Amino acid sequence: MKPIVRFAPSPTGKLHVGNVRTALINWLFVRGEGGTFILRIDDTDVGRSTKAYEDGLKEDLKWLGLNWDESFNQSDRFDRYDAAADKLREQGRIYPCYETSEELDRQRKILRSQGKPPIYNRDGLNLSEAQIAAYEAEGRTPHWRFKLSGKAVVWDDVVRGRQSIETGSISDPVLIRADGSYLYTLPSVVDDIDAKITHIIRGEDHVTNSGAQIEIFEALGGPVPGFAHTPLLVGKDGKGLSKRLGSLSMDQLREQGIEPLAICSLLGKIGTSDPIEARQSLEQLKDEFAFSKIGRAPARFDEAELDLLNSRLLHDMSFEVVEARLKALDIPASEDFWHLVRANLGKFEDVVGWSAVLHTSMSGQIADEDKEFCARAADLLPATLNADTWSTWTGALKEATGRKGKSLFLPLRMALTGRGRGPEMDKLLPLLGADHAKARLKGEAG
Ligand code: GLU
Repeated sequence: MKPIVRFAPSPTGKLHVGNVRTALINWLFVRGEGGTFILRIDDTDVGRSTKAYEDGLKEDLKWLGLNWDESFNQSDRFDRYDAAADKLREQGRIYPCYETSEELDRQRKILRSQGKPPIYNRDGLNLSEAQIAAYEAEGRTPHWRFKLSGKAVVWDDVVRGRQSIETGSISDPVLIRADGSYLYTLPSVVDDIDAKITHIIRGEDHVTNSGAQIEIFEALGGPVPGFAHTPLLVGKDGKGLSKRLGSLSMDQLREQGIEPLAICSLLGKIGTSDPIEARQSLEQLKDEFAFSKIGRAPARFDEAELDLLNSRLLHDMSFEVVEARLKALDIPASEDFWHLVRANLGKFEDVVGWSAVLHTSMSGQIADEDKEFCARAADLLPATLNADTWSTWTGALKEATGRKGKSLFLPLRMALTGRGRGPEMDKLLPLLGADHAKARLKGEAG
C-alpha cells in the first residue's frame, strides 16, 4: 500500500522554516515511496485565516519545489465535521459544558495553587437538567468536550519509538466552541479518515494531542494512521525559534536571495545523522531521506549555516540550471562565464556585479605606485588571450619589473576587475578579452 500523507498548515500567518521542515519531511518520505502528498488548508478558524496567507503559502511551497497531488480546505467540509460531531454525541463521547473561559481559568489557578495538575474537572458530565436549563436561561451556549477513556493510548511512533499517553492525566479536549465553531482537533481526524491518510508526520508539540486524536479516530471507526513526531527546531543557542519565525518566513528568505534548495538542504539534514551539505536537487535529498536518521534531540537551525549552504549550492550549480535565470537578468549567458564566477557568489544576484566586470566597460582600480607597473603590463599583454596567457604574461612581467607574489598579482587583479578578490585570473583574462584588459591597465574605462 502506497502511503498518503498531508501537510496541514493554518493560513493564519506566513510559511516559516518550522512548518517548511514538516512539509519537507512529509514530501521526502512520500515521494520516496511513490505515495500521495495532500495539502490540507486548516482554515476552520475563519476569523484568523485569510486567502492572502493561503495563496502565499501555496506560492512558497511551489517555490520550494514541494509539489502536492491534491489540496482541499477544511472550511469546505463543515458538513462532514457536523456529521462526525453528531456521531460522537450519539455515542455519548462528547458532552456539553457551560463554563466561561474566566471560570475555567479560575479552576486551573486553584488546582495549580494546590499543587495539582490543571485538568478539567468534568463538571459538564454531571449536570442536571435543571442546571442546564439555568445556564441556558442565562444565555450561555455549551462548548463540547470529548470524553477521553482515562486509559493509556499507546503507539509506535516512527521517530520517537513507543509512546504512551495517559489520557487520565489530560483534560478532555474541547472539540466545539460555544459559538459552534470547530477547533482543529476533530476536523483533522475527520479529514485524515476521509483522505485515507496513512502517516501523520508533524512536530512533537502534537504528541499529547495525538493521544486524544487516536481515541477520536477509534470512536469514529476510522483506521488509526501511523505517527511520526519530529523534534522541534531551535536556534543555535538552543532556544525556541518562535520569536524569530517572522524573519525566517519564506518570503523574507527569498528576498535575501536564499535559494530554495539551500533551505531544503538545511531543513532536510539538521537533526539527522547525515552531514549538513548542499544538495542540488530534491531528488537527491529524497534518496537520502530515512526516518531512522532523525534523532530525538531538537534540530538546531543556524542562519549562518543557511548562508554557507547557499554559497556552496551556487558553487556547484550547473549552467543548465541557471541559464534562464541569467538571461532573465539580461546577462550574456555563457557556460564559461558561469563556471568562472559561480565560486565567488554568496547570493545568485552577486552574479550581476561579475557580469558588469566581464561584460561592460568600466575602470579598474590602480594605486599611484602601481600606475607604471600596470602600463608596462598593458604593453606586454598579447593581442590574443588564452588559458596560458596569464602565467606567461605574469612571468614576463616578473622578469621585466622584478615584482613577485602579491605585489605582482594584486595590482593586476585590481586594475582588471576593480576588486581584490574574485575568480581565477587565468580563466578570467581570456573571457575579459585583450581590449578591455589593455584599457583598464592603462587606467582608462574599457
Ligand atoms: N494545522 C495544524 C498545525 O499547523 C496541523 C497539525 C497536524 O499536522 O495535524 O499545527
